[in-house]
Amino acid sequence: MKVHSKKFGGLILGLVIIIFVIISVICYVNHSNGLIKKQQEMQKSPVKSLRYTLPKHTKVSDWQLILVNKQHPRTSEIQFNKVTVDGKQMDQRIEKPLNDFRAGAKIAGYDTTLVSAYRSIADQSEVYQNSLRQNEANGMDEKAATKLTQSVIQTPGSSEHQTGLAVDVAGNDALAKYPALMAQMDEFKSQRWLIKHASDYGFVLRYLNDSKSISQTGIDYESWHFRYVGIANARYMVQHHLTLEAYRNMLRKAAQN
Ligand SMILES: [Zn+2]
Repeated sequence: MKVHSKKFGGLILGLVIIIFVIISVICYVNHSNGLIKKQQEMQKSPVKSLRYTLPKHTKVSDWQLILVNKQHPRTSEIQFNKVTVDGKQMDQRIEKPLNDFRAGAKIAGYDTTLVSAYRSIADQSEVYQNSLRQNEANGMDEKAATKLTQSVIQTPGSSEHQTGLAVDVAGNDALAKYPALMAQMDEFKSQRWLIKHASDYGFVLRYLNDSKSISQTGIDYESWHFRYVGIANARYMVQHHLTLEAYRNMLRKAAQN
């Protein structure tokens, strides 16, 4: 009798273990199937799924999304109503957002300087030629001088400052240490505050600090150059870590689908 119940007990234990193993395997397979399915869905239609999250009524042709860069130069001056703030001209439509942005920084404890705003093609041409002449005066031949100038100054026609929607803004302490504007200005809390809160006022830090963004914009990280795109666009671009180039491509693709 004793031997029988021992055998029976062993059988039950064995059965329990087998059932447990089967259930575990089923659960595992289901889980990984779910993951694979999810990944496949995301790979299939990243643009389609993003379309539903894009800000509503946004078009790539909206005035605040104008693109000027090396691949999209403007050879004639862009027309818009200009206002002057702190001695710098800009598109009148960004006067209030910019004032609010800097007022926000001040309330947070940071005084700021508007270093630069609108530059006409003629202005840009002058800056470019001055740099070229300076390099040549320093003994460089024309090729070397041009190369160095183009590494730091946009060729006339391809600077975003021509739009009147781009501003160079610096925390006063950051500017005091780096008067020529350097990426390291973000060592300062003031500059980091500007970068972090820009989108609340409709601005984005235009030239981001990662290789993918740099390859899209063609411009190295600039911790001071902000571009007005409107609050909804700015928030979306920051949330998804998009350059203006990438965001415009996404809007164009979404409009085609
Ligand atoms: Zn700038």
